[in-house]
Amino acid sequence: VGVYAVTGAASGMGKAVAERLVAAGHVVLGVDIERAEVTADLSTAAGRREAADTVLRLAGGRLDGAVLAAGLGPSPGPDRPRLICEVNYFGVVEPLEAWRPALVAGDRAKVVVFSSNSTTTTPVVPRRAVRALLAGDADKAVRSVKPFGKAAPPFAYAASKIAVSRWVRRRAVTPEWAGAGIRLNALAPGAILTPLLERQLSTPWEARTVRAFPVPTGGFGDPGHLADWALFMLSDAADFMCGSVVFVDGGSDAYFRPDGWPRPVPARSLPRYLWRMHAFRRPDESGPEENGAVR
Ligand code: NAD
Repeated sequence: VGVYAVTGAASGMGKAVAERLVAAGHVVLGVDIERAEVTADLSTAAGRREAADTVLRLAGGRLDGAVLAAGLGPSPGPDRPRLICEVNYFGVVEPLEAWRPALVAGDRAKVVVFSSNSTTTTPVVPRRAVRALLAGDADKAVRSVKPFGKAAPPFAYAASKIAVSRWVRRRAVTPEWAGAGIRLNALAPGAILTPLLERQLSTPWEARTVRAFPVPTGGFGDPGHLADWALFMLSDAADFMCGSVVFVDGGSDAYFRPDGWPRPVPARSLPRYLWRMHAFRRPDESGPEENGAVR
């Protein structure tokens, strides 16, 4: 039996994840703005601190995993870009930083962060907004999407998900995360039929945008299927999975960007590549060759 923190546990994919974990006999500490073991508002620094502390207290300082599914969709509204940045980026990274020591204390802990295929399929997302979030500057991120006016929320949304995916990939490989036994990965869904998408479909303008978007498989994704992917990424099968972003999106990313990834390292990136090679330190003294795990 493991102890898992699940944000966004009151609805959609977070709820489906929490239900599956409980059915498998685990203890789930759900975090949400309502209808959860830990009720807190992840759009404020104080709410995030409170959520993080309460989970740590209830878990007794030890977590076997965490799923970060709380998030706001790209619906219209003047305050929306700020709320999106606060919940989708800071509402993930601040609790995770606070929970890291508890995850180290857990049994080969796994973390799954909900990203989105909007990361690779939203055009012209301002790089400044992504950089600002990674630098911890919400004001600057919000200012960077302001020129889009009423159309700003989808750009804030994509920027928040790009930033959180990069945060995952940067942290996942470090001694503090991978080296301390935690596996940190992201799941990038496409349009999944949850209350979030249902709200978008109930507004004619948003519904048109959603339905016009190319999905090679057709239809929408099932929240339960995405929860199954998250559970797989929490299982022993993910022991060797580190810093991955898994797309489960009906093929939209592959449709728009078939050659976008994987890509070879270009010549201009060689100095940095060689520097990274030189700077690498094995997480354990014996190393994979000596202990025979990998050949
Ligand atoms: P959902 O709206 O059904 O559930 C999201 C949950 O987050 C809700 O329970 C909500 O109360 C909670 N939440 C929102 N703001 C909060 C706040 N300030 N404090 C605490 N909790 C808050 O959404 P979903 O579709 O299940 O989305 C889950 C995750 O997947 C989100 O991060 C979303 O961005 C991402 N995602 C969804 C889709 C999709 O099509 N549904 C696609 C790509 C990515």
